[in-house]
Amino acid sequence: MADCPVCGAEVALSEDVIEGELIVCNDCGTELEVTQVSPPVLAEAPQEEEDWGE
Ligand SMILES: [Zn+2]
Repeated sequence: MADCPVCGAEVALSEDVIEGELIVCNDCGTELEVTQVSPPVLAEAPQEEEDWGE
């Protein structure tokens, strides 16, 4: 388990989670990146789809 940095909810991680893996918080729906595995640390994943040119 790790804490969602956005809403603070506990997010379940799979046992074979790897650094850099992207998961989605079930509580707030934010995409999170696993920045560290032991102990598990999550960070908000970079948003790259907001501004695709108009
Ligand atoms: Zn969350």
